[in-house]
Amino acid sequence: MSSTILVVEDEPAIQELIAVNLSFAGHKVLRAFDVAQAETLIRAELPDLILLDWMLPGASGLTLARKLRSDERTRLVPVIMLTAKGSEQDKVDGLESGADDYITKPFSPKELMARIKAVLRRRAPQLTDDLIEVEGLKLDPTSHRLSGNGQPLAIGPTEFRLLHFFMTHPERVFSRGQLLDQVWGDHVFVEERTVDVHIRRLRKALEPSKHDAHIETVRGSGYRFTPVIPKS
Ligand code: CA
Repeated sequence: MSSTILVVEDEPAIQELIAVNLSFAGHKVLRAFDVAQAETLIRAELPDLILLDWMLPGASGLTLARKLRSDERTRLVPVIMLTAKGSEQDKVDGLESGADDYITKPFSPKELMARIKAVLRRRAPQLTDDLIEVEGLKLDPTSHRLSGNGQPLAIGPTEFRLLHFFMTHPERVFSRGQLLDQVWGDHVFVEERTVDVHIRRLRKALEPSKHDAHIETVRGSGYRFTPVIPKS
């Protein structure tokens, strides 16, 4: 699945190499040569993942990583640090700053792509193409098909994304605001009650196979996807 990836790298040849490989893999690439440029791009569009060089002119990549983690809006964006440094202490500093992974230069494009996939799978499973099955409910992101106990279920694109997000984050309660950020996207201005409308449609889509009970309303908080339906 296509993700938006921000590459912050001051060496043009390396930036180009990374960007070409990411584009080839179907990702949308944003590029910055320093922290200031990166911050401007992040303000305009929240990327799904950031590849961040450590040694940059001006503020270091480590500084940006720490800033991202302390800001509510960017706190959850996965970060992979790129660096020529390879000592244990540097690795510890990098991971303590909130980076999800750490790649030492020189690296092969193949290794980079594998790490990106692993981090996205761990941090943002709704962005991967992995087929998910929960209690007979099967969602296939590649073909955009959904079935309940083997029976195909008709579902709209927004409800599909919403269900994909829920199924990859089971048992967690999400507020309407969080769901808007995660499913509709950052900087999208829609009213919170829009979420309720799509939750209703989602339940309706899941009704034929009785999977609608997996979508729980948590009073005063929001919604949750629960794999196990309590027996009433
Ligand atoms: Ca550099």
